[in-house]
Amino acid sequence: MNNPYTYARISLKGLVHNLAAIRKNIRRGTAVMAVVKSDAYGHGIVPVSRTLEKAGIDGFGVAFVQEGMVLREAGITSPIYVLSGFQRGEEDMLVAHNLVPLVYCTEQVELLDRVFRKRNRPVSIHLKIDTGMGRLGFLYDDTGTMNRVLQKAKKLNIAGVATHVSDPHDSAYFTNIQLTRFKKVKGFLESGLSKRLTSHAANTDTFFNYPDSSFDMVRAGISLYGYGQKGLTPVMQVFSRLISVKTLKKGYGVSYGRTYRLKKDTRVGVVPVGYADGYSRMLSNKGFVGINGKKVYILGRITMNHIMIDINSVPAHVGDNVLIMGNDGTMYIGADQIASLASTISYELLCSMGSSLRRIYE
Ligand SMILES: *Cc1c(COP(=O)(O)O)cnc(C)c1O
Repeated sequence: MNNPYTYARISLKGLVHNLAAIRKNIRRGTAVMAVVKSDAYGHGIVPVSRTLEKAGIDGFGVAFVQEGMVLREAGITSPIYVLSGFQRGEEDMLVAHNLVPLVYCTEQVELLDRVFRKRNRPVSIHLKIDTGMGRLGFLYDDTGTMNRVLQKAKKLNIAGVATHVSDPHDSAYFTNIQLTRFKKVKGFLESGLSKRLTSHAANTDTFFNYPDSSFDMVRAGISLYGYGQKGLTPVMQVFSRLISVKTLKKGYGVSYGRTYRLKKDTRVGVVPVGYADGYSRMLSNKGFVGINGKKVYILGRITMNHIMIDINSVPAHVGDNVLIMGNDGTMYIGADQIASLASTISYELLCSMGSSLRRIYE
């Protein structure tokens, strides 16, 4: 059951604003794929995708075939790319729902070839190249395997080629190596096939910081949800409320393990949000929330359903709204800010809170 007192408000307007900001930052004519894997980073795959399709998005990226099917069943007609390809047994569903897999091994080509022969219906694929991520993809220098793929894929429509950048934030040196490897593979495949391929390499951090990385399409995830670059609007705001206020004496221990001892008599508030809501326990004794426009700190450990906060410095009453994350018009608590206090990234916090909480759309 969802937490009844804490919820995520999702601003679909914010999403459209962020798409416009992304388009401003890339060359005109570059397509934007909205990455909506993992329930649109916890924002809800169907409402997010419907909004973006109306706003003129060029395609969607999901991790799994099943997510693509959810989109088709919701009436999405734009191209859908399955970033993690597919597993044996999923090839019929993939083709039936007109999904484009990022193919990373020869077996996938054989399976799709069989579906093509059975259905005699065009099957489009993109080839995924590993240029330095060490995850999925044909190795960038394995031209032998790529030649075999081109042979086996004669009946398939190889429409594109993609790679994924591993360290855009911290290493321009390695990112440029990856982009160079990608250009080389793209050239090799295009001359082998005697046609141009739709090429894409960049996630948010890459297309904002490496203008040369956009190729024909960018894959925008975190920036659509309002993070990873300045000037974006956080799409998810998390709100809760104060359910208890009492004054505890100097020296009193707060929460499990009594890891926080009050330094003076303190008004302590209780807010019904905890690690069961995806609010990381790593924020114990570190995190903060907003009440009536003021930043107040978490005292002691985060529990499954509650946190305790120091409200000595604010007039606060039972029933008052508490901002956990995002923007409430009076203050802003970035998912990236609190994520870094918890030694993680905005992506993880958005996924975990968004998927745990009740969501309200506006
Ligand atoms: C998740 C993902 C993205 C989106 O990355 P962001 O940093 O959120 O923009 C792009 N490409 C691939 C292959 C991904 O897995």
